[in-house]
Amino acid sequence: MFLSRFPRLSPQILHLSRIRASLPVNHLRMSSDNSVPAEAAIAKLTETEQKNPKTVSEEQWKNVLSPEAFHITRKAGTEPKFSGKYDKFFKSGKYNCICCGAELFVSDDKYNSGCGWPAFSKSVEGDKNIIRIPDNSYGYERTEVRCKQCNAHLGHVFDDGPKETGERYCINSVAISFAEKKSE
Ligand SMILES: [Zn+2]
Repeated sequence: MFLSRFPRLSPQILHLSRIRASLPVNHLRMSSDNSVPAEAAIAKLTETEQKNPKTVSEEQWKNVLSPEAFHITRKAGTEPKFSGKYDKFFKSGKYNCICCGAELFVSDDKYNSGCGWPAFSKSVEGDKNIIRIPDNSYGYERTEVRCKQCNAHLGHVFDDGPKETGERYCINSVAISFAEKKSE
């Protein structure tokens, strides 16, 4: 018979190959290289995409972000006032972009502004990973802040901050992920 010319794969080999195929693409790489934080959505995409966050398509972001995070970071949405998990949160650590993992803020610069969203008096290394864009929507003159690496909408920056910098970065909790400072 025609089919008998093909050796049959044993059920054990089939089982092993299925396990291998089901491992996450970045499983091995991510365990030895922590350049992209595991909480960042981009960690679920390929290495090429991780190196070039700006090339990730809207469809790809949709697949790896929660619907809320997608709406806020990729569609410039705003989370409801006082709803964010980092609004009244003051642990010691740093805040990374939820999309690409870029380091954006540290807890030392976070303060309670009472405005209903997480507030920071400055960003990491003077906007090292942040871009500012004039935003005239809703009849206001505001300055939008986005992640420089992946273009995620983060929030706005206002000039009513504490004396030291005079600025208040008003950021959506959903756009950032917190990484606790490890005690040495
Ligand atoms: Zn980013």
